[in-house]
Amino acid sequence: MEHAFCPRFTYFQLVLGIEQREDKRGTVQSGRAFHSRYSTTNKNYKINHLDGIKQTERLLYSRKYSFSGKIDEAIETDKEILIIERKYSDYILIGPTIKTQLGLLAILAEENTGKKVNKAIVVFNKTERVEVPVYINEKIKQIALRMLQKTNHTIISGDMPYSKRDNRCPNCCYRKICP
Ligand code: SF4
Repeated sequence: MEHAFCPRFTYFQLVLGIEQREDKRGTVQSGRAFHSRYSTTNKNYKINHLDGIKQTERLLYSRKYSFSGKIDEAIETDKEILIIERKYSDYILIGPTIKTQLGLLAILAEENTGKKVNKAIVVFNKTERVEVPVYINEKIKQIALRMLQKTNHTIISGDMPYSKRDNRCPNCCYRKICP
């Protein structure tokens, strides 16, 4: 996911070993509190009263693609799994970062349960609450796997990937060391 946001995050964190220290940032702390409200402390609440069993904080591993990840919230029925992803943001966009995340979570859920993931719901909730349905298809899973491949390539090669300077940079924790 972070590689989709900026490939240099992989380089700084996993090649040079420089942590983000994002826990010091207020927006990150607010986002974590927001997530835990639905996945840890509000375990019985189900979005739109959907049928199925609510799953929270499931840490899963893919033997097929060698990666792990955590599904914060999902609704599981006999046949399928619906992933719910909450974003503490007013920026309503299903871009490459979210597509990568949903694609990888869908791959993990399908491999570990044998059930299909056909849909996810992304809930943006900061000043306003907006629900965006995202249909999980092969294209989203391919986007996610390509990003995983690029991440692994950066780690293995040790080369700093190209990234252009834009409006992500002023608020980035690596801005002072990023050339
Ligand atoms: S400063 Fe910009 S280019 Fe450098 S790591 Fe941060 S987001 Fe990426």
